[in-house]
Amino acid sequence: MKTALRRLGKALAACALAAATTLVGLTVTTGAAQADGCYTWGRALTLGAVGEDVRQLQIRLAGYPGYNSVLGLDGSFGPATRSAVIRFQQAYGLTADGAAGPQTFSKLYALQDDDCTPVNFTYAELNRCNSTWAGGAVAASTARFNALVSMWKLQALRHALGDVSINISSGFRSYACNSAVGGSAASRHLYGDGVDLVGAPSFCRLAQQARYHGFGNILGPGYPGHNDHTHVGATGGWSAPSCGV
Ligand SMILES: [Zn+2]
Repeated sequence: MKTALRRLGKALAACALAAATTLVGLTVTTGAAQADGCYTWGRALTLGAVGEDVRQLQIRLAGYPGYNSVLGLDGSFGPATRSAVIRFQQAYGLTADGAAGPQTFSKLYALQDDDCTPVNFTYAELNRCNSTWAGGAVAASTARFNALVSMWKLQALRHALGDVSINISSGFRSYACNSAVGGSAASRHLYGDGVDLVGAPSFCRLAQQARYHGFGNILGPGYPGHNDHTHVGATGGWSAPSCGV
């Protein structure tokens, strides 16, 4: 039964949402394994593992690379991925053994929606420019993927801040949308990973904590044009002089 479920899980991972309903029902009755509408891991992952399942794990752990680091999404479970697993496990009070097994996967299932976004963020929030993700500096599919990775980083950030709500005023922008708001010509918003954060907690608190969650680009109070929000993105450096960052 376990093997059958695992196989079902793999099929599910490949695609069908219809299968998800069946499998979830089955899981509830047997209690043998857990499945998810977005992605289901079929094996425990430890140091040395290679594959798409590792990459799927890395995407969801993108917010746990440690201070001033970015986790590679290369599908190869090396020391950096192991450290990210440990940080994630510690953040959620799990056994911090650096191996992604049922306990870790259960927490990830609880944290993701059926479209693979983390529960507290949506594609719609990350794109108020257009519905297609087209017209930016990269292909639409790349921009959308970059936004997904940013959302997982934001999920880690909000958890570290005590599960506070984080409000987003701007995400992906096409060149047209970027020009309309006077965005920089090299803005990460054009790539899909740039996100402007507003509201509580303070802009400085967001800028400071973001350094631990995989954002290579943090612009906040004291940086020109950034006194009314904190900007985070994948690459481009930090500057929030009023916050000491
Ligand atoms: Zn921005």
